Amino acid sequence: MKKPLVILDPGHGGFDAGFRAGSLVEKDINLAVCLELWNQLWGSGVQVLMTRETDEARSAEERAQYANDQGADLFVSWHCDLLADEHVAGVSIWIHEEHAGGRHMEECEHIGERISRDTGQLMLGVFQERDRVLEKVLAPSLIIHGAFLSNPTERRLCTNPEFIKLQALGAAKGIIEMLRMMSPIA
Ligand SMILES: [Zn+2]
Repeated sequence: MKKPLVILDPGHGGFDAGFRAGSLVEKDINLAVCLELWNQLWGSGVQVLMTRETDEARSAEERAQYANDQGADLFVSWHCDLLADEHVAGVSIWIHEEHAGGRHMEECEHIGERISRDTGQLMLGVFQERDRVLEKVLAPSLIIHGAFLSNPTERRLCTNPEFIKLQALGAAKGIIEMLRMMSPIA
């Protein structure tokens, strides 16, 4: 029986650093969480591939094409957030607006709640946006915004390997449950 295939997509990379807050760089945090998540999922019998495993640049097209060529069952991007208001903190899930509706949103919400349960962060909800990567990915897809680099507490947590592990652990539980809901035999 074919194992479900999850493609992890650490946001940014190479010349594209993403958000910066002091010495913290978003692309590095995204990669650290995804590598940890890769470990967690692999240990649970899920096939996992990543759009990048090092600090390399990847275009939106390359990321989506890779997922489609590999025949992904689920595509998960990881990003961080940054706002002018430093008080805002928590996890949020983002989906491409044309994929919104019904069960997918509920399953995505569940992943956010799983992360929140393990890290103690707020789960802010499931939001829609036009996303250049997700719009081209054929598999069900979502973006996890794991933390706000503008929030002093979450900024500090992002430098803590234990926190990175907890985020990955929560996300892995949510992803595995989502795979089960998508295909009862998985
Ligand atoms: Zn980002």
